[in-house]
Amino acid sequence: MNPREFTIADEYVYDRRSALHWIRAHILRYPLLPLTAVAGYICTAILFSLSPVLVGQAFDVMLTSADQARLLTLTLLVLVTRVGQGFISLGSAFIVEVLAQRLERDAREELYISLLGKSQTFHNRQEVGDVMARATNDVQQLNLMINPGASLITESTITTIIPLIGIGLLRFELLLVPMAFLVIFVIALRQYNRELTPITGALRMQFGVMNSGLAEAISGIEIVKAYAQEVKERRRFSAYARQYRDLFVREGRVKARYLPLLLYGITFGLAFGHALLLFLNGGLSIGEVVAFMGLFGILRFPTFISLFSFSLVQLGLAGAERILGLIKAETELDENAGGVVQPMTGELVFEHVTFGYGANPILKDICFSAQPGATIAIVGQTGAGKSTLTRLVNRTYDVHAGRIMIDGVDVRDWSMQSLRSQISTIEQDIFLFSRTIAENIAFGAAGNASREQIEQAAREAQAHDFIMRFPDGYDTMVGERGVTLSGGQRQRIAIARAFLTNPRILILDDSTSAIDSATEDQIQRAMRRILQGRTTLLITHRISQIRWADHILVLRRGELVAQGTHAELMVQSEAYRRIFARYDEDSGQTPLLDAYHLDGDGKQPVLASDQQLLWQLLMEVEGQ
Ligand code: ADP
Repeated sequence: MNPREFTIADEYVYDRRSALHWIRAHILRYPLLPLTAVAGYICTAILFSLSPVLVGQAFDVMLTSADQARLLTLTLLVLVTRVGQGFISLGSAFIVEVLAQRLERDAREELYISLLGKSQTFHNRQEVGDVMARATNDVQQLNLMINPGASLITESTITTIIPLIGIGLLRFELLLVPMAFLVIFVIALRQYNRELTPITGALRMQFGVMNSGLAEAISGIEIVKAYAQEVKERRRFSAYARQYRDLFVREGRVKARYLPLLLYGITFGLAFGHALLLFLNGGLSIGEVVAFMGLFGILRFPTFISLFSFSLVQLGLAGAERILGLIKAETELDENAGGVVQPMTGELVFEHVTFGYGANPILKDICFSAQPGATIAIVGQTGAGKSTLTRLVNRTYDVHAGRIMIDGVDVRDWSMQSLRSQISTIEQDIFLFSRTIAENIAFGAAGNASREQIEQAAREAQAHDFIMRFPDGYDTMVGERGVTLSGGQRQRIAIARAFLTNPRILILDDSTSAIDSATEDQIQRAMRRILQGRTTLLITHRISQIRWADHILVLRRGELVAQGTHAELMVQSEAYRRIFARYDEDSGQTPLLDAYHLDGDGKQPVLASDQQLLWQLLMEVEGQ
C-alpha cells in the first residue's frame, strides 16, 4: 500500500500490479457473475451449433425416407434450441451488464477514495481537468470494456470453439480449412492490435489534454474575458480538438485495413469447395454438407465482431492504465494511523525549520515557540512565506529540515487524524461547498452537529443575523445553485465552522481586507472571540492585531528577521517603536481607524492600505 493521508477501515484491496491484474481483481470480486456468464455462453453456443446439424439431418431425411414424424421432431428440436438459446443469451447479457456496472462503480469509488487520500503536493501537481477526464471518461470506458468488449470476446471465442468441435465431430477432415483460417485470423488480429494499441493510448491521453485545457479556460473565464482572450483560447482548444480528431482518423485507418473479414469470405468459398469434393468422393452426405456450411457460417460472427470488441478492450485497458496510474501515484505524506492520539493543549514550537516547495528553500531556519493559547502574529510582505509557515503545522506539507513540535511531540509523530482534527485553518480564500449554509458550517465538526450547535457557532461568529436575512435561513443553498456570499460573510461562515470544530490550534489568515467598516467591526469581534484560549497563528497586516498579539514574527523572504512581543519589539527595535508611536498619535487607539492616517497637516484623513502601512514598518525594521 502507498502511504496515504487517510484510509477506510473495510476498504476492498485490489491487486494493482498492472492494468490486467487490476481489472482481473475487480472482476473476481464477484466470481459468480463471470462464471455464470461463461456457462451461459457455452450453452448458447452449443444450442446455436445444434441447429445447423439438425437442419442438415432434416435434409438427409428429406432426400431419403421423407419420414414426416422424424421431420416434425427435427423441426421442433430446431425451435426448442433457438428459443432456449435466446433465453440463456438474455440471462448472460443481464449478468454481464450487472458485472460491468459494478466494476464501473467500484473503480470510481476506489479512485475517489485514493484521490481524497493524496497529499496536497500531489494535488498541486495534478491538473484538475485531467483528473476529471480519468474519473469520468476512463472509468466509463471500463464499463464498455466489460460489456460489450470483453463479453463479446469471450462469447466469440466460445462461439468459435464449439462450432469447430461440431465440425470435427461431423467429419475430422472438414477441420482443414477452418483451422487454417483460424491460424491466419489469430495472426492478423495480433498484428491489428499491435498497430491499434499505441493509437488508442494516445487517444486517451489527448482527451485528457483537451479536457484540462477546457477546464482551465472555464475556471479562469474571468481572466480570459477581462483580457479579451476568447479568440486565443478558442484557437488553443481547436488545436487540441484537431489533434484528438486526427488520432481518431488514424485509428479509423487501422480499422479500415482489417483483413479477417476478407479472409473469412475467401475461406468460406474454399470450405464449400472442400465439402463438395468430399461429397463427390462419397465421403459426405448432402445433409452433412449443409450442416458443415451452417457451422462454418457461425464463425462469421466472431470474425466480424472482433474488430469492434478488441478496440473496446484496448480503450478500456488504456483507461485502466491511466486510472491505475493516478491511484498508484505516490503521495508524500503518511497518515501515520498508529501515531500519537491525544487531546492537544496547543504548545507550538518551531525548531530550525527549513522548507521549500521545490529545491529552493522558501522558509529558512525558523525558530520560535508559543505557549498554549497564545496569539502569534505573522507579518511580512506578500511572498515572504507566511502562509507556507502555517501550512507546515497541520502537515499540509512536511518540513525539509528541523522539526515542529506540538505539546512536545513532532507533528510527524502525531496521528494525522488526531493532529488535523485539532487544528483549524481560516484561509484568505474561503471555499464553500454547494450545500446549505448549515452544512457548510458543520463541515469540519466531528459527528453530526445539531442545529442548535450550528446556530450557536454562527452567533459567536457574528453570522447569525445575516444568515437569518436569507429567505431560507440556515437552509439557504450556497454557490452555483444558490446565493453568492460576500468576502466578509464567507469569513464569518469560516469562523463559525471553526467555533464548531473547537480546535486547540487556529490558523487565521486575515491579510486581505476589502470589507466595509461595519462588517469589519463584526469580523474583528468574531475573530477576537475565536482566538480566546486557542494557540493562534494570525497572518495579518493590521497594526491593531499586531499590537495585541502575544508574540510577533516578522518574516522577510523566508527568514525570521525579528520576533518578540509588542513590548519587546518596542524596546528592542527603534523602527518598530517609531511606527507605533506615530500611528497611535495619528489614528488614536481604535483598531477600526488603523487603516486611516492623517496626511501632513493632520486635517484630511487619507485611506492608506494596510499593506502600505506594513510595508513601511518592514522597511524600517529592515533598515535597522
Ligand atoms: P505569503 O503568505 O507570505 O504571501 P506564501 O507562503 O504564500 O507567502 O509564499 C511564499 C513563496 O512560496 C512564494 O514565493 C510563493 O510563490 C511560493 N509558493 C506558495 N505556495 C506555493 C506552492 N503551492 N507551490 C510552489 N510555490 C509556492
